[in-house]
Amino acid sequence: MITVLSGGTGTPKLLQGLKEIVDPSELTIIVNTLENDYFSGVYVSADIDTVLYTMSDIINDEFWYGIKDDTFITHERLNELGCPELLRIGDKDRATKIQKTLLMEKYGLAKACEIQTKDMGLTCKILPMSNEQSDIKIITDIGELEFHDFLIKYQQEPEVLDVQFSEVSPAPGIIEAINNSDAVIIGPSNPITSILPILSLEGVREALKNTYVVAVSPIIGSDSVSGPASKFMRALDIDVSSVGVASLYEDFLDNFVIDTEDENLKDEINQIVNKVTVTNTIMNSLGAKKNLAQTIINNIL
Ligand code: GDP
Repeated sequence: MITVLSGGTGTPKLLQGLKEIVDPSELTIIVNTLENDYFSGVYVSADIDTVLYTMSDIINDEFWYGIKDDTFITHERLNELGCPELLRIGDKDRATKIQKTLLMEKYGLAKACEIQTKDMGLTCKILPMSNEQSDIKIITDIGELEFHDFLIKYQQEPEVLDVQFSEVSPAPGIIEAINNSDAVIIGPSNPITSILPILSLEGVREALKNTYVVAVSPIIGSDSVSGPASKFMRALDIDVSSVGVASLYEDFLDNFVIDTEDENLKDEINQIVNKVTVTNTIMNSLGAKKNLAQTIINNIL
């Protein structure tokens, strides 16, 4: 059994490769829920849905959000009615979100995900990190912003001074999944808003100390491949580099995968992590995703 810690872009790219070389029934994916919230009356757990769609081969992997070739009839009609949506939710994607909302309100988020995973014919396990609602604030030079306002309304442009989020309890099965795994893979997800929320759950860091953990750096050179990770790291006074990411995982990390472009950092990272693997980590094709996944698996087994 392999457990993967995931956000909604970098790690799903890796999952596209991983599911081709590992039987998905051997995979448990623990997914960030920090940014979950209600939009237009439905509960949106963007990272969970991205993982569901990735594992079902229907993800819109141009945006890493929603279902490919979806239509937007409801979204456009809402606009016409004077009820614009902050999130552009597709019609089929909205159906997933309505189903999840109904299931969640009855059974909680973890059970809702379990039912939806089965309904989509998947054999992997997809576990939300928590059943509880997180509270996240992005403190910027123009004031305190909601996460999605920062991302969408303000297009990630304000200077970030701090990122604050509340602690929540782990969903049932999280610690057991890590304890029962041969290895844990931390994908190249945003270390601050996708991975740290999972690491902050009570018992997770302790469980990771007792498991073989391999992580892939989402930072290459001095910037993230995409998204606001570098802005968030800078705001928290963390060096924006693979070295900075390694320092966040120092207490439990066994093997850190960095990009060939960062080979010069290998010795410095070796002071923090026992093993450093240097390879191409840019996942711009299925071949690149499978190669990276295979390199990780070769290091685990
Ligand atoms: P979010 O939930 O949409 O923020 O997505 P994640 O947290 O899963 O992933 C965002 C991170 O993925 C960013 O920090 C990127 O630098 C990283 N990322 C995206 N694509 C790649 C890639 O091809 N290679 C690597 N190494 N990192 C990537």
